[in-house]
Parts: sequence; C-alpha cells; structure tokens
Amino acid sequence: MKILVVEDEKKVASFIKRGLEDDSNQVTLCYDGAEGLKRASSGEFDLVILDCMLPKKDGLAVLNELRDAGSKVPVLMLTAKADTTDVVSGLDAGADDYLVKPFAFAELQARVRALTRRSKQDRGAEILFADLRLDPVNHKVWRDQIEIVLTAKEYSLLAYMVRNAGNVLSRANIADNCWEYPFETFTNIIDVYINYLRKKVDGKFPTKLIHTVRGKGYILKES
Ligand code: CA
Repeated sequence: MKILVVEDEKKVASFIKRGLEDDSNQVTLCYDGAEGLKRASSGEFDLVILDCMLPKKDGLAVLNELRDAGSKVPVLMLTAKADTTDVVSGLDAGADDYLVKPFAFAELQARVRALTRRSKQDRGAEILFADLRLDPVNHKVWRDQIEIVLTAKEYSLLAYMVRNAGNVLSRANIADNCWEYPFETFTNIIDVYINYLRKKVDGKFPTKLIHTVRGKGYILKES
C-alpha cells in the first residue's frame, strides 16, 4: 500500500512511517498542509493519514479541498483532542476514520489495515437491494436510478447493511465489520454515520430502508 502521512511533528511522523513500513507499506511524509494537499490530490496513494493541526493549511481545510476536487482516497484523521465537535467536523468533511493522539501504534495499524483492506476487497458484482444498486468497484450507489454520493466510510457501512439486509445489526456488529476495533469508545460515531446515511439514502424517498430497532441496533428492510 502507498500511504501519505501529513504531519508536522517530525518525531510523530517518523514513528508512524517506521511502523507502517514494518507492515510492508510504502510511506511518503510531508510536513505542511499545502504540500499535503498537493501530494494527496495526485491520486497515487491508497490512504492518507492527515493531522488536524498543520502549518500553512490545517487538516480540515486540506480534507475539504480534497473532497471538493472529487478525490475519494480514504483519509484517516489524527486529532489532538477527543473533542466530538472536532471529530464530527472531520467526518462531515469526508474523513473515513479518526484517531486521537496519543495513540498506541497497534491501534493505528488496525485502522490502516481496515481502511486499506476494504478498498482492496470491495470488488466484484453489483449488489442490489430494493431499489438500491451498489457498484463495489467504483463505490457508487444509486437509488431508483438517482446517484447518491457517499464517502468511503458511508459506502462501507451501507454495503455491510445491504449484505445483511433483513438482519438486526447491533452497534457492536457494525463496529466490528466497518471499523474493526472495540466500539465502546465511539458508539456515537456509528449513530452519526447512520444519520448521514439516512439523510442521503432515505431522505427524499417515501419508502424508508434504514430502521432503528430500539435497544438493539439497526436493520435495512423495505418496510
Ligand atoms: Ca500537528
């Protein structure tokens, strides 16, 4: 995997680089937001690890410009505080996951593996459910022929729900399959994502597909 790390703290950056290289990735470092945006836009990376606080251009601005330009590269945000507002603005801007500093290297590795594995494995035939159509190669989604634009993380959550349509999915199931680390620490993030999906997938349509099962989780079904 080719990974771009945008982080101005040189110690942290080289710690991340060493560890990811041990996992047989190719790692490129850059130390400010302007350079980071330029490199991330090049389309040559499988994953971008992006710090929030950066000189020249902060991480959120980099992410916004990257997504505005149409890039779908998976982005893992690094944030200095577990402040939900920060995390939610990152996710709103199209981050696929986030990690709060300081973090254990194993945790970073697990998330990197989850993000890169998904971008490799999501290949194959179209997935259909009700009037939804998912294209696993290009991560595109249509409902009733209308294209719905999703971030990579929203896509993986929807794909998981479609593959398990008709089954109640607990937050733990969802965390396990779409995030691959213990869900206790970020259970509200799943609810945030379900809300994003609801707005995009069900918002304009009379038939709702995403349903809450009180006290249990969520289910995808036609009524
Ligand atoms: Ca920083």
